[in-house]
Amino acid sequence: MLKRFLVLMLALLAAPVLANPIEQTKGSFVDKFRQLEGEDWPTPNEQRTASGAPGHRYWQQKVDYRITASLDEAARSITGRGEISYTNNSPDSLRYLWLLLDQNNYKRDSIAERGDTVGSSGTIGMTSLRRAQRYTEWEGGFSGLTVTDGAGRPLKFTVVDSLLRIDLAQPLPSGGRTVVRIGWSFPLIETRVIGGRSGYECFTKPDQDGNCLFLAAQWFPRLAVYSDYEGWHNKAFLGAGEFTLEFGDYDVSITVPSDHVVAATGELANGAEVLSAAQRARLAQARTAKEPVYVVTPAEALAAEKGKPAGTKTWRFTAKNVRDFAWAASRKFVWDAMGVKQDDAANPLVMAMSFYPKEARPLWDAYSTKAIAHTIDVYGKFAFPYPYPVAQSINGPVGGMEYPMITFNGPRPVKDKKTGALTYTERAKYGLIGVVIHEVGHIWFPMSVNSDERQWTWMDEGINSFLQFEAEKLWDPNSQRSRGEPRDIVDYMVSRDQVPLMTHSDSLLQFGPNGYTKPATALVILRETVLGRELFDYAFKEYARRWRFKRPTPYDFFRTMEEASGVDLDWFWRGWFYSTDHVDISLDKVVAARIDTRDPAVEKAYARERFKLEPQPLTTARNTTKPVVDRDPATRDFYDESDRFAVTVKERKDWEAAQKKLEPEEAAALKFKGHFYHFTFRNIGGLVMPVILKLDYEDGSSETIRIPAEVWRYNHRQAIWQHVTMKKLKAAMVDPLWETADADRSNNGYPRSIEPATLKVRDDRTDSDNRMADMELEVTPDSIKTRPRAKKDEKKDEQ
Ligand SMILES: [Zn+2]
Repeated sequence: MLKRFLVLMLALLAAPVLANPIEQTKGSFVDKFRQLEGEDWPTPNEQRTASGAPGHRYWQQKVDYRITASLDEAARSITGRGEISYTNNSPDSLRYLWLLLDQNNYKRDSIAERGDTVGSSGTIGMTSLRRAQRYTEWEGGFSGLTVTDGAGRPLKFTVVDSLLRIDLAQPLPSGGRTVVRIGWSFPLIETRVIGGRSGYECFTKPDQDGNCLFLAAQWFPRLAVYSDYEGWHNKAFLGAGEFTLEFGDYDVSITVPSDHVVAATGELANGAEVLSAAQRARLAQARTAKEPVYVVTPAEALAAEKGKPAGTKTWRFTAKNVRDFAWAASRKFVWDAMGVKQDDAANPLVMAMSFYPKEARPLWDAYSTKAIAHTIDVYGKFAFPYPYPVAQSINGPVGGMEYPMITFNGPRPVKDKKTGALTYTERAKYGLIGVVIHEVGHIWFPMSVNSDERQWTWMDEGINSFLQFEAEKLWDPNSQRSRGEPRDIVDYMVSRDQVPLMTHSDSLLQFGPNGYTKPATALVILRETVLGRELFDYAFKEYARRWRFKRPTPYDFFRTMEEASGVDLDWFWRGWFYSTDHVDISLDKVVAARIDTRDPAVEKAYARERFKLEPQPLTTARNTTKPVVDRDPATRDFYDESDRFAVTVKERKDWEAAQKKLEPEEAAALKFKGHFYHFTFRNIGGLVMPVILKLDYEDGSSETIRIPAEVWRYNHRQAIWQHVTMKKLKAAMVDPLWETADADRSNNGYPRSIEPATLKVRDDRTDSDNRMADMELEVTPDSIKTRPRAKKDEKKDEQ
C-alpha cells in the first residue's frame, strides 16, 4: 500500500493538465484515496498478517459441551445441566472465564430493558403495549445457577448483567484444559409478545388445536470468546448485536414429552429410541430422494396433536466443530427431508430438512427444503462446501434466525377466518424462500467464518445478504424482494441520521438498511462494477477459505479482498464502510474540441465560420438609421473593404517557415482529424466511484466506457476527462444501467432530457368539525336554538 501512495505523490507533483490542482491546496482538501493501512487498521502481527490471512501464530480457544436438558411443557421453561471443557490455546494464563447469559437481557433491570428508548411520546405500537403489560407480570432470565469444577467443588461466580464470570481455583495455563459444571433454568419467552430469537408459540385460539412450538436458542450459559485482538469479548447482550462463540464439540440430550419431535444442531444419535421403524425407513429413503420425503407425515403430526403424551423421551444429538447449539420441539411438527449431494469429501451428502406445523403447509412442503438445497448449491460455489452433515429450517414465531445446522423461519400462508380458504401472499412465498436462503446462508457467515456480530453487524448480515441476493437471483430473476440491487439503496443513502457501516452493532441507526442492505449492495457493486466477477469471486472465495472455522475482523476482510484481487480498494472501503456519503455523479458539460492546425488558411476559414454562427449584437440589429460608412462612401478605406479573416502575407510566410521546422510526425499530428471530447463530471454525493459512461455517436453506434474511480484522485469534486474518437458524439449518459446507486439520475444525461412526472391531485376541501351535527342536533330555518335532529323514519311515519 505504501508503494501505491508514493506513486500517488509523484502523480500529484506532475500536476496533470486536466485536474484542478489549486483546489487541493485549500483547507477543505479531503483525500478519498488515502490508504487505511497504518492509520485506521490495526498493525499486522503474528496472529493476523498484513495480507488479511491468519498469521503463523494464529490461535483460538476450544470449548466442548455435554448437556442434559429438559423442557417443561406446562411451565414453558427449560432446565439444564452442562459440563463444559475449556481448552486454553491462547499464550495467556487465565484466572477467570466469562460466559454469556443472553437470556438475562429479558430481566426487568437488564441493560437491554432499562437502557432502551422509545421513538416518541406520541404513539405506542400494539406489540409494545402488549410487551409492556407482559413485563408487569412476567420476567425472563436465568435462575438457579450453580457452578462447580469438574470434581464438583463449588466455584465462585459473579453475574454482570448478561455475563457470568467464573473464578477458577487455579489459573488455567496456556495449553491447559479445565472442566466446569453448570446448572440453570429459565422461562421461555412468548416470542410474539416479547420479541426475540427463540421462545414459544401456542395455538390456543378457539379454532386451533391448543398445542405449542418451542424454539430453544441462546438457552444455556455459553463460553464467551477470548481472542488475540480483544481478549474476553465480554460486552453485554443488548439485543441487536448478536454473538460470537468458540468452536467445539457438543453432546446434548434433550428430554421432552414423548410425542414431541425434536430438531437440533447436529446429528440425531439415538434415532432408534425416538423414531418409529417407519420413520427411520423414510429418513433413510430421503437420503437419495429427488424430492423431499416426509419423515413425520402430516397425518402423524395431526394424530399427535389430538393425542396425549405418555411420559417423556430423550433425544440425543452430537455435533462436531460448531460454535453454538440450538433446538426446537413440538408435537405439531411435520418433518420432511432430502439428501443434497455436494463435491466435498468431508460432507458429500447433506440432509436438508424442514420441520413445520400444519399452519405452515402447503407453503413449507413446497419451498423450505428446496430452498435449503439451493442455498447449499449457491453458497457452496461462492464460498466453500456446506461444512456440516445437516441443514435445517424450522417454522415458528421467530421471523428468521440462524444457529449451526438449524434455522428458525417465520412465513406462513393465511387462513380466512370465515371461509377457511387458504392463500398466501407473494411476500410470504418469496419471504419464505428468501429467509430460508438467508438463515441457512448464515451457517457459512458467521457460523463457520466466525466474525463477531456483537461488534460488526455488516460482517455477517451484510456479507450474507449479498450472497442471499445472488442466490435469490438464481432462484427467480424476477424476485423483487432481495436486498442488494443498487437502485434500491438510494433512498437510504440520501436519508438523514445515517451512521457508517463501521459502527458498533448496538449503536446502528436504521438497523436493516445499515446492517443488511447497504453492505450487501456495496458488495454487489464491488463485484459487478468495481472488480468484475472474476476478480471479486476469486478474492471473496479466498476470504471464505482463509477464515473458515476461524475468527476474522473487518480488516482481515478488507485486506484479503485487496490482496487477492490485486486492486487498491481503500477508497471503496472509505466511501462505503467508513462514510455516509452517497453516489451522485453529474455530467455537467461536454466540450467537443478540435486541433489547432496552425495553418492560417485553415484556422482563419474556421474562425470565419464560427463568427457567422455568433448572434448579431442587439444594438446593431435594432438600429434602423443607415450608418455613416454606408451613407458616405468617402469614409470607407482598406479596413472597410477587406476581409478580416483573410490570411495576411506575413501569416502565410510565418507558417511556411514554421512548417520547415516541424518533424514529419509533428506535421502529421497537426493534421489529425479525430474529435477530442472533454467531459466535466461533478461528484455531488461525495462517494467516489467508477464513472460508467455510455456514448452514442451520430453514426448510430454506441459504446460504454468504464472509467476507474481513480479519475477522482486529484480532485474528488470535479474531474475533466478526455475521450478521443474518430466518431462524432451525439449524446452521453453516466451510469446508464443504474449500477452504482446514483441518487439523482436527472443530471446523468447529456444533453439533458425533459423528465416525465405524474401529479397527484390533492383534495383541497376542508371538512371542519361540526359539533352540533355530531351531537345529532339541528336548528330550524327560523331560529338558531338547537333541537334534536328529525329522524328520517319518524318522518316516514308522518307521511
Ligand atoms: Zn441474518
